[in-house]
Amino acid sequence: MTPPFKVLRLGYRKGRDPRITTHLALVSRALGATDFLLAGDEDDGLFDNVASVNERFGGRMNCEHIGGGLGWLKRFSTQDAGDGEPGVTVHLTMYGEPYRSVIPRIRRDRPITLVVGGAKVPSDVFQHAHYNVAVGNQPHSEVAALALFMEAWFGEGGSERHFPDARLIIEPSARGKAVHDMDRHDDGEE
Ligand code: SAM
Repeated sequence: MTPPFKVLRLGYRKGRDPRITTHLALVSRALGATDFLLAGDEDDGLFDNVASVNERFGGRMNCEHIGGGLGWLKRFSTQDAGDGEPGVTVHLTMYGEPYRSVIPRIRRDRPITLVVGGAKVPSDVFQHAHYNVAVGNQPHSEVAALALFMEAWFGEGGSERHFPDARLIIEPSARGKAVHDMDRHDDGEE
């Protein structure tokens, strides 16, 4: 079985970051993460949004709030990734090494946590991460960095993912919107 692929969003601020953090969660889900972990403020509404997408389009990505984040990260990378052994931690930062050259060096037989920073990333994160990885060395968007890393990690199939338990299935179309609702009789698919 493929080990868990977790995305950890640090420093979430409920009043300021919901939209971009929802986008992080949706990209994580769509490209194959098993877990989305939120450090900082709690926000059940954000998790409800993801649950609603799961209900319609399938998938089971788990969403969880984990307090400050640093303690969790330290434990994951040095002691216990859920099975009593350390996991692999990759921190997305514009100060890091190029992602395409780092990815082949990362082991794939252990749970991995991909860390995405918030407004201010504590220096401890750079120390605890096994890899500090850049998607280009320019400041841009955490959503773009996450998507490009995950596409490179999972290969082209990452963004072509389908979920077997989907209720709504989109049929690719050159024009218009073709959507099959698996619960509706007139689709003949029930
Ligand atoms: N100023 C913050 C700091 O203390 O580093 C970073 C803010 S930035 C908008 C938020 C997050 O986007 C970063 O922590 C990083 O995870 C991600 N990010 C932005 N540009 C990136 C790049 N070129 N490569 C990798 N990640 C990037």
